Amino acid sequence: MLRTKLIAGNWKMNPADCEGALDLLRQLRARLAPFVKTKMAVMPPFTALHLAADVLKSSKVAIGAQNLFGEDIGAYTGEVSAPMLKAVGCKYVIIGHSERRQYFGETNEDVHRKILAALKHDLTPIVCMGETLAQREAGVMKEVVKEQVTQALRGMDVAALKSVVIAYEPIWAIGTGKTATPTQAQEMHAFIRELLGEIFSLSLADSMLILYGGSVKADNAAALLGQPDIDGALVGGASLQADAFAEIVKSAELVI
Ligand code: PEP
Repeated sequence: MLRTKLIAGNWKMNPADCEGALDLLRQLRARLAPFVKTKMAVMPPFTALHLAADVLKSSKVAIGAQNLFGEDIGAYTGEVSAPMLKAVGCKYVIIGHSERRQYFGETNEDVHRKILAALKHDLTPIVCMGETLAQREAGVMKEVVKEQVTQALRGMDVAALKSVVIAYEPIWAIGTGKTATPTQAQEMHAFIRELLGEIFSLSLADSMLILYGGSVKADNAAALLGQPDIDGALVGGASLQADAFAEIVKSAELVI
């Protein structure tokens, strides 16, 4: 199957203020305007989502959030729910990013609940998974990722899973400048797709988008995006520079 490509920018806790966010959003709107084939999304911090919805209105760039809480409404100080994200114009939400797992103790069970909350409100979850350097060196990366996939998606039906996006992000490659080689990334993407085929259905596995994340930059994007099971990228650092992000989208356009 010929799948579309999705390039999504995870801004993390950047830029420092609204002026910086506004400036980046305006630059992105202008730089991304020529691209028509690739799906594009930006994930600013919660505080810049309104601004993003406004600046990117009627553009081809969707907006998403970096996290959500698993309940819809109530006494959960400091949390943000799926209906709130939907109301501000989000299409996507990142779930289970390794920084959330590492610094905020998110478990596969939390990830599972958050996916259900996102799907209930018609948000597309981008579900992150990946191994640490120690796990890769011990050769157990497939076991780790298998556990993450099976726990996160357990009990879900094929209809719901059609709107789930997976992001394979080896933790040792996030923000480190060390990218998985195209061969290493392709091997893990093919493994995840095969697993989805075994657990759910082959046609679902064939249609699901599996993004790669981990130091994707303008100069390595083409080789990664050219792999048969890599359907796009979740981009951190390089998504904060409009030119670099646009170059990554351009690489995606060339291989679609
Ligand atoms: C990320 O935050 O998901 C990410 C992949 O970051 P970076 O591109 O900076 O490694």
